[in-house]
Amino acid sequence: MAVPKRKPSTHRQGRRRATHKIKLPKLTKCGNCGADKRPHYACPSCGQ
Ligand SMILES: [Zn+2]
Repeated sequence: MAVPKRKPSTHRQGRRRATHKIKLPKLTKCGNCGADKRPHYACPSCGQ
């Protein structure tokens, strides 16, 4: 495996990490009760 010759500068590392946490918490409506729920997760309201 190729290994980077030098570690990324703090600026570069910060720029990269700035894109890590931008995932929005996706919510969908539960098909059973209509409550907001995460897709592929059990509904917190009705457990569907
Ligand atoms: Zn539900």
